[in-house]
Amino acid sequence: MPLEPSPLTIQPAAVLFGYPVHATNRAHALALVTEALHRGQRCHVVTLNPEMLMQGDANPPLGAVLRSANVVIPDGAGVVWALKQRLNIMVSRTPGIEVSEALIGYAAQQGFRVGLLGASPDVMSALLDFLTLKYPALQVCFAHHGYFDSPEHEDLVTQQCLATQPQLLLVALGVPKQELWIAENLPKLRGAVAVGVGGSFDVWSGQKKRAPWAFRALHLEWLYRISSEPWRIQRILGTLPAFVWRVITSPTPTEGLQESDPSKEAPASLKENNAEDVAQTLSHP
Ligand code: UDP
Repeated sequence: MPLEPSPLTIQPAAVLFGYPVHATNRAHALALVTEALHRGQRCHVVTLNPEMLMQGDANPPLGAVLRSANVVIPDGAGVVWALKQRLNIMVSRTPGIEVSEALIGYAAQQGFRVGLLGASPDVMSALLDFLTLKYPALQVCFAHHGYFDSPEHEDLVTQQCLATQPQLLLVALGVPKQELWIAENLPKLRGAVAVGVGGSFDVWSGQKKRAPWAFRALHLEWLYRISSEPWRIQRILGTLPAFVWRVITSPTPTEGLQESDPSKEAPASLKENNAEDVAQTLSHP
């Protein structure tokens, strides 16, 4: 079920193949999200990569959710490249895993309640150890792994999660499940920021490694993922070349820039908040 539009949805910089993207810098993206946290506003954050975008076309419910998310961050290098190629918008990549960890630090500092859903039971247990050590003040109001015995079990866990009224909810169920879960359940919360975090719990718990710096700098994170998790080959090669081909060959965009460049002009509400101040706080919690 698509979310109700919120004032934050007004600010997508660009529309890429029909998907709004907040083509902005990391500080501004974080400011958008922390503003929602402070306002107690429902806010679905999507960290968009080419694979998701292509899946969105093949899977209409996912496509609808991606289009109605409140904040869409250009996570994948492919999205950053496509924004440049098609719309001449230059932004740097804002990795979802980094945004999510910054949000956890911020929640610990500001006392927001955090819910964690997803990953394997072992990963969840190691994740809680990691978070307790790194953020002793963090209030984890809900934590559960993402493997369910039955639909009834999943419903029960979902109800338990919602009952704790998390203010920041990180959902690691993989794409598209996490996006669909958030779209269905976020409206049942009074107000919360929910982020689909993919494999972030696996990385924070130490079970998986992020691509080394050199791969990230060369925008080859996808290659590292294929080499360390060969089962991804089919998934990545099934979407990435098609995405590249589409970016190169699709007619001159009619989608275009929608509004003024938000990296230069923050929404009025954010000007009050001072995006850079928030970002500073986030990077030095
Ligand atoms: N996962 C889960 N329940 C499921 C399927 C997946 O909790 O039914 C977890 C999985 O253990 C992993 C995360 O979801 O921690 C997905 O990670 P992945 O790197 O595959 O994310 P994606 O590539 O989809 O962003």
